[in-house]
Amino acid sequence: RNRTGPLPRRIASHKIPVNRISRSAIRVVESLRKANYETYLVGGCVRDLLLGLVPKDFDVATSATPEEVKKVFPRARIIGRRFRIVHVRVGREIIEVSTFRKQIGPNDASNYNEHEARDGVIVRDNVYGNIDEDAFRRDFTVNALYYDPANNTVLDFVKGMQDLGSRTLRLIGNPKVRYQEDPVRILRAIRLTAKLDFTLEKNTETAIAPAGESLNVVPSARLFDELNKLFMSGKAERAFELLQKFNLLEILFPLSSKTTDLVTAALHSTDQRIAQEKPVTPGFIIAALLWNHYQSQYNALPTIGNPQEKQFDAARAVIREQQQTIAIPKRHAFFVRDVWHLQSRLERRNPRSIRPVLEHRRFRAAYDFLLLRARNAEVEPGLAQWWTEIQTLNPTEQQEQISALSPQKKKRRRRPKRENA
Ligand code: ATP
Ligand code: MG
Repeated sequence: RNRTGPLPRRIASHKIPVNRISRSAIRVVESLRKANYETYLVGGCVRDLLLGLVPKDFDVATSATPEEVKKVFPRARIIGRRFRIVHVRVGREIIEVSTFRKQIGPNDASNYNEHEARDGVIVRDNVYGNIDEDAFRRDFTVNALYYDPANNTVLDFVKGMQDLGSRTLRLIGNPKVRYQEDPVRILRAIRLTAKLDFTLEKNTETAIAPAGESLNVVPSARLFDELNKLFMSGKAERAFELLQKFNLLEILFPLSSKTTDLVTAALHSTDQRIAQEKPVTPGFIIAALLWNHYQSQYNALPTIGNPQEKQFDAARAVIREQQQTIAIPKRHAFFVRDVWHLQSRLERRNPRSIRPVLEHRRFRAAYDFLLLRARNAEVEPGLAQWWTEIQTLNPTEQQEQISALSPQKKKRRRRPKRENA
């Protein structure tokens, strides 16, 4: 392809630690180059390497179309519709390969089928272009740096190195237009500012709140993916403060537009666990976010049937309402429901249900949730203490504790139904 666009700045004096670059990513770049396609590392990995961070994943940008990439890596998979990319698997790693794209204006009728915008929102973005066009269609300047592993240089079309140096997150182009084209960029701005501890450039920042409503047009599944990344970024507490600052909470979580200490505690605990490399799940934060609403929903339901049914009904109703903005995948919805349901069993401490509760697959999460509630003065500290202790005991000692819960032996009666654990 002919190059007509602006020339990049070539930076050879950078501090990318070459040994931190994934061997697999370099192999993918080399293979595509051997097949005569212009290819670079790009995006978050280049940004993170320049900042001395460990990249989460490696993205490759190339002049090869997805079909051409597949010719080079026959076992690769083309994925996505709105934005087609190729997943190349090397060992246990997946390298995302995307073709250089260009942004086309609203009056550009060419390639109508491959680039489509409705009311200024890009719904299809598959018009291929040159590397310089590709740089300008990216979101932030620090995300538009290309790394050439063959001669260890960085290509910069958008003054990204300068912004990286001053730790500034700046949208490329007109922020108002760029947020409208793809409102998910709002959430990316917040996530990256929090994760990198950057400052939002003035116009990039002021355009956020007015664009907030446009998040309503984003498919709910894509919103979940992005919020999941935000919650699991290790900087969820900070990111959440920013969501509040820009009035986005009432748009994303209309049921919990007022945050509580419990939410802050859940975010904080998730960040801490990530720092300690412990497993985390977005369900825990969702459970905290919707907890108050779940409780009022539960109290509003008539009491017929057993409490578990009522709890599940309340949980279903709350989750269904939240789904209107953000798609919560089934496994997470069940997690949330179980954590809520277990709260009452943890509080009741029915001697007969201690063991089933301890063996419940969501016990750990529910117990962690109880700890947050205790710290938040929602339950008495002695209760949380009791559940902490019982886990440290051997079966005989546990039995003693359980017996101690019921001082007088109640008359045994046959229970109509076994309790579901
Ligand atoms: P991380 O991987 O650390 O979450 P990232 O910036 O690499 O951050 P990805 O989602 O992997 O995020 O995207 C890779 C690159 O693709 C980005 O760096 C950016 O250049 C471009 N990009 C991603 N999403 C968008 C978007 N919504 N609009 C424009 N460009 C985008
Ligand atoms: Mg990435």
